[in-house]
Amino acid sequence: QGNRAYNFNAGPSALPLAVLEKAQQELLDFRGTGMSVMELSHRGDVYEEVHNQAIARLKDLLSISDDYEVLFVQGGGSMQFSMVPMNFLQPGKTAAYIMTGAWSEKAFGEAKLFGEPYHAASSKDSNYRYIPKLEDIKFQESDAYVHLTSNNTIFGTQWREFPDTGSVPLIADMSSDILSKPIDVNQFAMIYAGAQKNLGPSGVTVVILRKDLLEKANTNIPTMLQYGIYAKNNSLYNTPPTFGIYLLGEVLNWVQETGGLAELTKRNEEKAKLIYDAIDASNGFYYGHAEPESRSLMNITFRVKDEALEKQFLAEAKKEGFVGLNGHRSVGGCRASAYNAVPYEACKALSQFMVQFQAKHS
Ligand code: PMP
Repeated sequence: QGNRAYNFNAGPSALPLAVLEKAQQELLDFRGTGMSVMELSHRGDVYEEVHNQAIARLKDLLSISDDYEVLFVQGGGSMQFSMVPMNFLQPGKTAAYIMTGAWSEKAFGEAKLFGEPYHAASSKDSNYRYIPKLEDIKFQESDAYVHLTSNNTIFGTQWREFPDTGSVPLIADMSSDILSKPIDVNQFAMIYAGAQKNLGPSGVTVVILRKDLLEKANTNIPTMLQYGIYAKNNSLYNTPPTFGIYLLGEVLNWVQETGGLAELTKRNEEKAKLIYDAIDASNGFYYGHAEPESRSLMNITFRVKDEALEKQFLAEAKKEGFVGLNGHRSVGGCRASAYNAVPYEACKALSQFMVQFQAKHS
């Protein structure tokens, strides 16, 4: 680890050390070209291979069939909030939004600019402590699509199983849990994810889109906001974020070398357990925000029993080298983000720190 911090940032967040070292090594002379990846033409063979390999690796890791396109878009998860309704919300149609946190709200807000979204279910009444039960979600006949947020970065909740929406396209924002566990891509018409948590650096957003959706997409919108343009041009209609895509490809290699999604799930479960166990064994000194059955393996949100002590906890943790433990500014408290690249040792150190802090102060 050397002088690497215990990085619990919510995003951008920790990247695998091996990936950073490889990028460092290749920085000045990428594969004998005498230049860095950033300096290559995006129309040349060398870059094209990087680009296509990243797509192929993602397809492989998530078992994505040829019925889907894998696209690279800029503008973050936030631009997907707009692109989804712009492309897929037709006049006279509704869109079902399942509200599980601040990012669902942002997505919903954008859809309102283009049509008639509604809340198919919401856990707002509990300050988003849980994921709604499948039987409590109510859809409408007129739905053009259903939208959900698979992992709620701010509140620390995560879906375990997804609703069956039949022939209505299910669209998921997986920005904060993509590649953390195996998923059945075929349950979704579209998945999108900003790269800066589990996939790579900020600046690249991955979109996995079932091809038949493109036939129904609106085309009376700006060129750069049409999924069809990205699909037709292999995400090379204009200059893509080449360095970010290169790093993303290297992160995918690392996932593969680590043992793939089965191994990562195991590690993520072990890592999260260390911290949840410290909360659960604390007799209320620490308490979680999420209800246990909705807890996220990626973002662990908790409070310390009184506010002064919580302040002290965060200050002492910072001094001990733990970075990024402050909860999101909209909810306060504490949050440990334990994405794929956060090592077991960092979570172990945090859980030990939590136990020691409690022993000193209770
Ligand atoms: N969706 C989720 C679940 C997120 O966690 C975030 C950012 N943390 C976003 C969307 C917004 O992403 P961006 O900042 O890339 O626009």
